Amino acid sequence: MQANKSRDTKPEMAVRRIVHSRGLRYRVNVRPEPALRRTADIVFSRARVAVFIDGCFWHGCREHHVLSKTNTDYWRAKVGRNIARDRGTDEALSRAGWAVLRFWEHENPSLAADRIVEAVAERSQPRGGPRAGVGVAVDSAFRIDVLRPGPGKVVL
Ligand SMILES: [Zn+2]
Repeated sequence: MQANKSRDTKPEMAVRRIVHSRGLRYRVNVRPEPALRRTADIVFSRARVAVFIDGCFWHGCREHHVLSKTNTDYWRAKVGRNIARDRGTDEALSRAGWAVLRFWEHENPSLAADRIVEAVAERSQPRGGPRAGVGVAVDSAFRIDVLRPGPGKVVL
């Protein structure tokens, strides 16, 4: 039980809604790497993009984290551990080939969604030409469709 992780927070829902409306599909609150006991808020498995929407208090946002007047040392240590854990998560996921995107809950959801859509599109492009007969195309609406080789044939 993690008391410091609220699920389906409002900012997270807002970002999810926008990303979904742009045609991207994802999983929520899952481990990007099953062996790594860290859960990301929004996960794009194929593009290997993991998104975290961090709460300003729990993750120590410089603008909004206000140190508690009571039990100050306790909270300072706790949030410090959360921050260290976040950096550890970023490193471990990067090493495993994931792009990690972190946003503060105070950030504009539609700007966050723009960056997510961009990252997913970028990482869905075939690198160095088509891979094993399957390529991925991104159209102007950011919808990602899998294309089979052959003239204009779209197979999902
Ligand atoms: Zn903040």
